[in-house]
Amino acid sequence: MTGNDFGATVARHRKYFLSGATRSVEWREAQLTALQTMMTERAEDFYAAMWKDLRRNRIDADLTDVKFLVDEAAYTRSHLRRWMHPQVVSTPLTLAPAHTHVRFDPLGVGLIIGAWNYPVMLALSPLIAAISGGNAAVIKPSEVSAATAEVIARTVPHYLDPEAFSVVLGGVPETTALLEQAWDHIFFTGGPPVGKVVMTAAAKNLTPVVLELGGKNPTIVHSSADLATTARRIAQGRWLNAGQTCTAPDHVLVFKDVAKPFLEHLKNAVVAMYGSDPQKSPDYGRIVSPRHFDRLVKLLGSGQVYHGGEHDREDRFLAPTILVNVPLDSLVMQEEVFGPILPVIEVGSVEEVIRYVNARPNPLGLYVFAEEQGVAERILDATESGDAVVNDCTIQPLIHELPFGGVGNSGMGKYHGEWGFRAYTNARGVLYHSTKIDLGVRYPPYSEHQRLR
Ligand code: NAD
Repeated sequence: MTGNDFGATVARHRKYFLSGATRSVEWREAQLTALQTMMTERAEDFYAAMWKDLRRNRIDADLTDVKFLVDEAAYTRSHLRRWMHPQVVSTPLTLAPAHTHVRFDPLGVGLIIGAWNYPVMLALSPLIAAISGGNAAVIKPSEVSAATAEVIARTVPHYLDPEAFSVVLGGVPETTALLEQAWDHIFFTGGPPVGKVVMTAAAKNLTPVVLELGGKNPTIVHSSADLATTARRIAQGRWLNAGQTCTAPDHVLVFKDVAKPFLEHLKNAVVAMYGSDPQKSPDYGRIVSPRHFDRLVKLLGSGQVYHGGEHDREDRFLAPTILVNVPLDSLVMQEEVFGPILPVIEVGSVEEVIRYVNARPNPLGLYVFAEEQGVAERILDATESGDAVVNDCTIQPLIHELPFGGVGNSGMGKYHGEWGFRAYTNARGVLYHSTKIDLGVRYPPYSEHQRLR
C-alpha cells in the first residue's frame, strides 16, 4: 500500500479491532501459525531480498530473520494461553468477600516502524508481539532495505488477516503522514534522533511507545579474559552483517596488560572467519547504501588502522577493520559506528571502565569478558544498559525469554516473548466486590471514634 491517505486504513483496522475479532486466543494462534507458514513457504523470497539489500548469507538470514521468526512465532503460540490467563492477586480483608485479578487487554491498532539492518526481523518480530496481545497493526518496513520491504508488502496480505494488518511502503514523507494518525501504540526501531520525532508525534495523542534505539555498546576485555574465545566472539558479534547490528560491540575497552595479545587474537579471528581477502568471502555482508558507505569511510581517519581498512564503493564493501590509537574525542567515538569498524581503546582498571561508561549515554548492550570472579558483577552493579552479556556479545536478542530493549538514550520498553505480549497489552486491574457484606464504616458520616484515630 502506498499513498498518504492513511486515515481510512486506520479506521478500517480500528473498526475490525472493535468488532472483537482479534481478541480470541484462536485468532491469535491462527495468525501466528500463518506467519510461521509465510516464513517457511516464502523463505526463498526473503533470502533473495536480503542478499540483494545486504548480501546476507542464508545461515545468518536464518539465524536472525527467517528461522528466528519461525521459532519466535512457535514459541509465542505455545506460551500464549498462559500469558493471556488473568493473574489473580490477593484482596485486603477489609474488602472481603471479593476477588481481584489482572487481565491483559489488547491496546488496539498499532504502528510498527522498522529499521533496515535486520529488515525482516525488525518488521515482523514486533508484529508477533502485537498479534500475541490481540491487536491490529500497520507495518512500515524500512525503505533503505527496499527489496525486503517489497517482499514483506507482497507476502503479508496473502498470509495474515488483511482486516487486521496492512503494510505501508515508503520513507520519511509516508512515515510522517502515518505518525499524524491517532494510534493505540507505536513501536519504533531506529536511531535516537528519529526516536525523538516518533515520541513527539506520539505525545500529541498520549500514545504509548516502544522505542528500540541504538547506541555505542562498550565491550570490556578484562586482564583475566580468555583471549582466544573472547576475540572470536567479538569478531563474530562485530562483523556479522558487516557490523550493521544494533547490539554489536561498538568499541572495545581492553585492559592494557592484555591489549597486545588480544589484538593479535582479534586479527587472527577475522582472518580465520573471512579469509585474507574478505571481499571474496561468501559469508561477509555489504554496507546497505552508498550514503552509509561514505559515512563509514570517513570514520576510518579516526585512528590508526591495525587491520583491514580496504574498501570498494562500487561493491559497497568495507573490510573488517580494527582501529587503534583512537582519541576519545575523534569522530568514530562520537557516533554509533554501525558498520565494520572496531576501535580498540586501552584502559587501566575496573573503576576507569565504570567512569567511562557512566560518563556517556546508556548503551543498548554492555559486554564484559572476564574469568575473574566478581569483575562482571562489579561493572553491572555500577552501570546501566538495555541488556548485558558476560563472555559473549550481540546474540542476546535471539533468546526469546530475555527482555530486549534499551534504557534512556538507547530506548524504552522491552519486547520478545512475554515481554512483547506485555508491551502490547494493558494490565487492567479488576476488582469483583460482593454485595453480600457492605460495612457501613466506609461511608460518611464518620463516627467521632473514627475521626479521633
Ligand atoms: P532511522 O532512525 O534512520 O530509521 C528508522 C525508520 O524511521 C525507517 O523506517 C525510516 O523510514 C523512518 N524515518 C527515518 N527518518 C524519519 C523521519 N525524519 N521522520 C519519520 N520517520 C523517519 O534508523 P535506521 O538507519 O533504519 O537504523 C539504524 C539505527 O537503528 C541504529 O541506531 C541502530 O542501532 C538502530 N537499531 C536499533 C535496534 C534495536 O532493536 N534496538 C535494531 C536495529 C537498529
